[in-house]
This record gives sequence, C-alpha cells and structure tokens, in this order.
Amino acid sequence: GLQCGIVGLPNVGKSTLFNAISTGKAEAANYPFCTIEPNVGVVTVPDERLDSLEKLVTPQRVVPTIIEFVDIAGLVKGASQGAGLGNKFLANIREVDAIVHVVRCFEDDNIVHVEGRVDPVFDKEIIDAELQLKDLESVDKKMQKLERNAKSGDARAKAALETLRLYKTALEQGKSARTVQVSAEEQEEAIGDIDLLTVKPVLYVANVDEGSLPNGNAYSDKLRAAVADEGADVVVISAGIESQIAEMSDPEERELFLSEYGLTESGLSKLIKASYKLLGLITYFTAGVKEVRAWTIRRGWKAPAAAGVIHTDFEKKFIRAQVMKLADFEQFKTESAVKEAGKLSVEGKEYVVQDGDIMEFLHGA
Ligand code: GDP
Repeated sequence: GLQCGIVGLPNVGKSTLFNAISTGKAEAANYPFCTIEPNVGVVTVPDERLDSLEKLVTPQRVVPTIIEFVDIAGLVKGASQGAGLGNKFLANIREVDAIVHVVRCFEDDNIVHVEGRVDPVFDKEIIDAELQLKDLESVDKKMQKLERNAKSGDARAKAALETLRLYKTALEQGKSARTVQVSAEEQEEAIGDIDLLTVKPVLYVANVDEGSLPNGNAYSDKLRAAVADEGADVVVISAGIESQIAEMSDPEERELFLSEYGLTESGLSKLIKASYKLLGLITYFTAGVKEVRAWTIRRGWKAPAAAGVIHTDFEKKFIRAQVMKLADFEQFKTESAVKEAGKLSVEGKEYVVQDGDIMEFLHGA
C-alpha cells in the first residue's frame, strides 16, 4: 500500500499521534485498524460518499479504502551525519510515498523541547536541513557521474546536468527539492533514479494545545505562512485530544466531545483525508448488493488501469465501462432510473476515471 511517513523532532507529539491512529477505537466499526509492524499502521480512509451509497444499495458489506502510516522516530539534528539513529531513519523516509511532518505548536513547561523553546518554523527547518543535506549528497554524486559524459558531448547528460544544477542551488539555499520548478520530463531525467527525500510531497501537522482548537494559534499561523511557498497544507490537531477521542467507542459521546472543542470531525479524520489527497489519490466506487467498495487509483488513470486494481484480468480483458455519477444516483435512487434519465454513460478504453465515479466494468471471459 501507499505509505505516509510521520517525521518530526523528538517530543513534538509523533508517538501520541501515531498511538491515536493505532488505537482508533473511535471508528473501529467502519474503519478497522491493524498494525503490520510496531511502527506501521493501516487506516481506512473516511468517506461520507460510502455512507450515502450504503443507504442506496443496502449491501451485505461496505469496504473502505486504506492508507498506511509509518512512525519514523529518532530524527534529530545531525542525522545526515549519522547522529542519533540518523542514517537508518533517513533510509526509512526514502521508502515512503509522502511525508507527514509533525511540528510542536504547544507550550508546556513540563515537556522538554529539544532546542529549548517552542518555535515551529525553526523546528521544521532543522528537519528540512537534515533531509536537504542528504539530498545534496545524492545530487552531487549524480552530477559527478554525468560530468564526464557531458564533457564528451552527450547532449542528454548535459541537459540533465543543467537541471541538477537547479536542484543543487535550491538545496544549498535551504530549499527543498519539491520547490524546484521543472517539467515532469526534466525531473524524471535528472533525479528519477536517485530518490530524493525532499521531493516527496509533504503535509504539516501543527500539534496545538486543546485551547487552540479548532483553528490553531500564533505558532500554527507562523508555520502556515512559512510553508506557503511549498504549496503545502497545514492540518491543525491536538494529539492529546486525539488520543482521548480514540478511546471513545460511542459515536454520540465522541460527537459531543468534538463539539466542545468546536470540531465537526476528528483531527485524525482530517489528517487521513489530507494525506490521501497529498498522495495524489482519488477514489472510485463499485456498488453491488453484495459489496459497496471504494477503490484507490491515481488521478489521471484510464478505465482499464482502474479496473486492474480490482483484478489484473479486468484490465487485460477490458471491454467497456458503465459510469454513473453519485449525485445522479442520489437523485434517481436506482440504476435503471438513472439510465432512463439518460445519465448512465458507456465509456471505452480512453475514459479517464473521475473521483467519485461509480463504475461497472464489462470484460471478456
Ligand atoms: P514524540 O517524541 O514526537 O513521539 O513525542 P510524544 O508523542 O512522545 O510526546 C512527547 C510528550 O509531549 C508526551 O509527554 C506527550 O504526552 C506530550 N504531548 C503530545 N502532544 C501534546 C499536546 O498536544 N499538548 C501537550 N501539552 N502535550 C502533548
């Protein structure tokens, strides 16, 4: 599955957040959680559209889609030089698809801050700097490899070197690789094979005290302003509150608790949804009487590839797909009524599946 790595300085609330995710009693019924390894958790992605489909179809079961979170503890200043468990943790980050960066935005004299004071922007820059230093090493190595070829007139190597120089400059200026503006082709050609850490999409979690819910505080505002140029999202949560919510199994009790803090949904639910979006993922549905199910694909996938998520044979033997929009299904209530209204479309191999499509695939035997 696709993985989000949770990173951040020590004592910012990563474990509290991860434990809240893994306790997950809150949504136990519909959103089961399981732990594959001590630091890897699978969560289902909350999706109100599934509830709507369940009401319309009353299937035997409803299967939501999932993503994985990995708790990557132990990243400290100097990690790129091997401090702490430095290199091991950087290797862990290399394996994830996106980064969830937890930043401390709460004051608490009883909880030591590793750098002595609460300053979310500075904290974030410490982590960034370690990742950037590691990336700079990778970029330098790649450039050395290409230089000889470029000198002997290899045009492709020259072009890639040119792009790599942009990455090098950015990294040297303390900017992450994801801020470098090049085309997808240029990026692939230059860094496609070196797996940079700071090119991965990132999402910031501002961990605030309960008094700063729901909208955050001066610290989280400062963080938001600082990451604006990365185009990154900031999710405000209170890890402490999340761990309390995670213990509640009664939905009514949970809702009451949330409303006391001015929340309409748990921070975890917000975080899971934002992570899903961060990964560039979208959902389509199948809606049979046996099973209503959410399927994960990447934005831009065509119908056969989307069908392949269900079964590889569906992709190989794809004939056509029948597509219904959820809004039409909600309005007309049955598939045949949707069809009568002329809203059921039949699509071929070139159809690009849209988020929220209800699909039925026709395939050869
Ligand atoms: P990690 O080192 O980043 O995994 O941090 P932990 O999750 O172990 O948290 C460090 C300490 O901060 C623990 O004592 C937590 O109980 C506390 N903590 C975590 N989140 C909050 C919060 O939102 N408010 C307050 N006051 N304390 C928190």
